[in-house]
Amino acid sequence: MKTLDIKKLYSGGLITNYFCSSRCRHCLYGCGPEWERIYIEPEQAEKNLLKVKSLGCTSVHIGGGEPFLRPDGLLEVLKVAKKTGVAIEYVETNSSWFKDEKSACAILEKLKPHGLETVLVSVSPFHNEFIPFMKVKGVINACRITGVGIFPWMKTFIPETGSFDETSIHNLEEYEQRYGKKYMIDLISRYGLTMRGRALRTYAEKLNRRSLEEILKANDGGCYELSDVSHFHVDLFGNYIPGLCTGLSIRLEDLGKPLGIVDYLMLNILYEKGIGAFLEFASLNYGFRAEREYLSKCELCFEIRRHLVLNRKIVSKELQPGEFYSNV
Ligand code: SF4
Ligand code: SF4
Repeated sequence: MKTLDIKKLYSGGLITNYFCSSRCRHCLYGCGPEWERIYIEPEQAEKNLLKVKSLGCTSVHIGGGEPFLRPDGLLEVLKVAKKTGVAIEYVETNSSWFKDEKSACAILEKLKPHGLETVLVSVSPFHNEFIPFMKVKGVINACRITGVGIFPWMKTFIPETGSFDETSIHNLEEYEQRYGKKYMIDLISRYGLTMRGRALRTYAEKLNRRSLEEILKANDGGCYELSDVSHFHVDLFGNYIPGLCTGLSIRLEDLGKPLGIVDYLMLNILYEKGIGAFLEFASLNYGFRAEREYLSKCELCFEIRRHLVLNRKIVSKELQPGEFYSNV
């Protein structure tokens, strides 16, 4: 059997927490307020950063969940990054923590000397369902005042989000009313959505579905996405998330060597043989019954894994974090 082997890492992020003030409908990681409010410990951050450095990656971004929900925790992570010699490219934020200019500047001023150089500020209709645009502008302004770099993601949405009342939140249906029925569909390409995680749920009824047979025929090879190391993530629990395939995981200590088939049978099946073999595995061993249609191989993959975790109560290091499956 050809086994998955993550030998080298190029570009990625550190997930400090999965709990979030928002519950965005596109969230790849299925974050939200329901998650247990656990933030990465400095010791785990150090282990993660040393591991990614040993595999050739010397800078990462920090994301969540919402990393700024625990400014003191974030400060510790920045200190650890400096100690390990891993540069922090930027820290992502949804701006929910903004209260007023003074307190926002105080937080940024505290973090900046420890390596906070740039903040990626989320600007999108998905985020605007939970965060008034006024807060986003407040964080951008506080960055300007304190000399912290700003990376608005994505700038192109500023005119649309700014066209609504900035003091309140606005749902995607309001956007559709104003910008047309195709608005949400157009967001897929405009935002460059990865159709996994919660985005699958959001778009399940909005996109054309394909028959199971068609999907299996079109995807008869292995999932090489799993070996993509150009945008990897490592999380607060010591999981490495392969290839943006959220809900699949590799223990940090198992990176850098071929994954054994005893501990990583499912990942190896997906990597070597693909979705058809994974379906067969789950049907024969765990009674999974497929629907007639799916959006994609990734929706089928997610439904199989959800069945294993929630219905069959499988606890496996390949299917972490378990909370992902109940909160997505
Ligand atoms: S996309 Fe970001 S802000 Fe939205 S729920 Fe996910 S982590 Fe939170
Ligand atoms: S089918 Fe599963 S393993 Fe393959 S790319 Fe999609 S989510 Fe990843």
